[in-house]
Amino acid sequence: MTIARVALPVAADSAFDYWLPAGLAIERGALVRVRLGRRALVGVVVDIVATTNVSPEKLQPVTAVVREMAALPADLLDLARFVSDYYQEPLGLVLAQMLPPFGAEPAALARPRAAASAQRLTSEGRSALPQELARAPRARALFEQWCNAPGALLTGDDIALLPSHLKRVLRRWADAGWIEEAAEPRQPSSGVPAGGRMLNDDQRKAVAAIEAARDGFAPFLLDGVTGSGKTDVYLAAAAACIARRRQALLLVPEINLTPQFAQRIADMLPGRCTVTLHSRLAAGVRRRCWRQAADGAADLVLGTRLAVFTPMPRLGLVVVDEEHDASFKQQDGVHYHGRDVAVWRARQRGVPIVLGSATPSLETLVNAERGHYRELSLPQRAVAPARLPEIEFFGSRDGAATDGIGGKLLAAIETRIERGEQSLVFINRRGFAPSLLCSSCGWQAGCTRCSARLVVHRDAGVLRCHHCGHAERLPRACPECGNVDLQPLGRGTQRLERALAQRFPAARIARIDRDSTRRVGAFATMRDRVEAGEIDVLVGTQMLAKGHDFPRLTLVGVLGADNALYSADFRATERLAALLFQVAGRAGRAALSGEVMVETDFPTHPLFRALSAHDYRAFARALQAERRVACLPPYAYLALLAAEAPKRDAVDAFLAAVHMTGRDIAGDECSAVEVFPPVPAVLARRAGMERGQVLAQSADRAALQRFLPRWRSAIAARPGRRVRWSLDVDPLGFA
Ligand code: ADP
Ligand code: ZN
Ligand code: ZN
Repeated sequence: MTIARVALPVAADSAFDYWLPAGLAIERGALVRVRLGRRALVGVVVDIVATTNVSPEKLQPVTAVVREMAALPADLLDLARFVSDYYQEPLGLVLAQMLPPFGAEPAALARPRAAASAQRLTSEGRSALPQELARAPRARALFEQWCNAPGALLTGDDIALLPSHLKRVLRRWADAGWIEEAAEPRQPSSGVPAGGRMLNDDQRKAVAAIEAARDGFAPFLLDGVTGSGKTDVYLAAAAACIARRRQALLLVPEINLTPQFAQRIADMLPGRCTVTLHSRLAAGVRRRCWRQAADGAADLVLGTRLAVFTPMPRLGLVVVDEEHDASFKQQDGVHYHGRDVAVWRARQRGVPIVLGSATPSLETLVNAERGHYRELSLPQRAVAPARLPEIEFFGSRDGAATDGIGGKLLAAIETRIERGEQSLVFINRRGFAPSLLCSSCGWQAGCTRCSARLVVHRDAGVLRCHHCGHAERLPRACPECGNVDLQPLGRGTQRLERALAQRFPAARIARIDRDSTRRVGAFATMRDRVEAGEIDVLVGTQMLAKGHDFPRLTLVGVLGADNALYSADFRATERLAALLFQVAGRAGRAALSGEVMVETDFPTHPLFRALSAHDYRAFARALQAERRVACLPPYAYLALLAAEAPKRDAVDAFLAAVHMTGRDIAGDECSAVEVFPPVPAVLARRAGMERGQVLAQSADRAALQRFLPRWRSAIAARPGRRVRWSLDVDPLGFA
């Protein structure tokens, strides 16, 4: 008998055995449909064997083979195995999240493709559809995909793959003039890539070094100041790789960045076949892109962290842009780090990998220092002027402050408005004010389900919890003492927007945060308006910091920078530094010189001193020294076990046991590992759940890796399932 060992998307440590009906030919890596209890599931065949321990009467057959997806190649099975072992996640769950969504609409795939032509979203469509689609999530996802596509164009193939109800929707959109027929984008050809513009000397050297290393695993850190032209280096290296008939994989942190990137790729690699992969693509499109990568048709795969799992038979180069960015780490489900998995994959496949950043993570810097990564640097901005923006500081208790904006910053904004230039004001808080306070008895509005304050959202007239989403009406009076004088405390983006509008009534002010960009396409529209010079002052959260290039932007103000210095999260200052250096790189990128004004009461902090000197490495060195003394990453490796339950007692008892078990295992044979006593999470209660955690730490990564599987299986073997827990290896934050 032939037995298929199938990894299923369930939290189980091992694969499940099924017998293979005669005539059903499968190979390792194939996707199969099976039954588990009453559930019908799709899993991946990880092995084919002759015998099983499952008793014959219990052994079930493989129901069917999923034909619309090719079998996973061996290197991806190995990659999944590595992710499963390293991050302590069940193999079946890892595999499930590597695959594009499939199976939901197999009929649409099986049908022969209708000859549809490419369609472009019109500007009328862009403005009318967001309202139209308020209550149509599926159509909205399609619209969003259009907004994010290069040239706002979906190809005939994309359209042919849509389920029929969406095709009906499209006919309506076409009648309304919201979409129009367009020429298909140029098909892949084997022509010579046009090189685009000339690279400068530093860029050329970097590309040459990457190209020279093409025959084996070779990790590079491309350390280039903001605006130094890292993208041109990636794309020139990719062009060279593609010219050798190999595929390139390019990972970027944000979905919002992919359309811009896709455009630059189209310019620099004309005639090459590029596919884009990220989680917000419609299922059919994602499957098609995945298949084009898997069968080798795609020359370049551009995507967010999940694209690291794309099958690419001719892989020749991996690039991770903004490698320091926290969004490469998946925080829920399978906790993997896209950058680190990318490095493993490049080693596995024996190809170069380029990690690019203006503010490299300490992990990557230490790897470079130790000689594991080769450093390439682009110390100059690619376009004149080479002049860096001036950095100024102002205190939070500025006497002339209006609604929390210092007088100095207001004056600087006024000057920009007069000169027809743009300003950008950052604050890391959306909403109107982070809290509501009774001026008489001191009551503050809190969330009943979380240990957190409710944020005032004045426009909507509600108090909202940013942790669990709970919302309630703004109270008219204090529920404790009846006082009607309730004060919004602190400042958020909405409050700043209002204050600026009052102070500069003629100015065109826009706010960019999660609330203002919730509507599909809103972000792209806003970006277009800024680019077109239709905005004078932008107020926003750090959403705005990355990857945007606004030539008339000459002033950046940063409010509330000191919050990060007090944070319980040891990475908060590193993240603030990345943000500030990034922002400093945005001001005055083109012909106009820029200025950055930072609100802080500690201008002599090493971070701010380094910022004034435009010397990120100086700050990184200071931070490295601190981390070394404190035995924190990258000088130690961490694993965080987080647990939550409705009752505090249950969490505490569970974590006490987890701690003891961990100490026993460490004491036995993993003495290089230290297991710390349980502590409440930073947010001790969220959405009605009491939360806590236990940290395991070691200076020796291998020792921690030996310890973790034993610890996890000991915890999993505990009876009682009332506590939800998860293990985060190399955690980025302590939530
Ligand atoms: P980074 O990613 O390093 O912040 P970008 O790749 O976005 O920088 O490049 C910054 C700007 O410099 C872009 O407008 C880009 O078009 C331009 N640029 C890059 N390389 C060159 C070059 N060799 N000559 C002229 N302009 C360049
Ligand atoms: Zn009161
Ligand atoms: Zn809450």
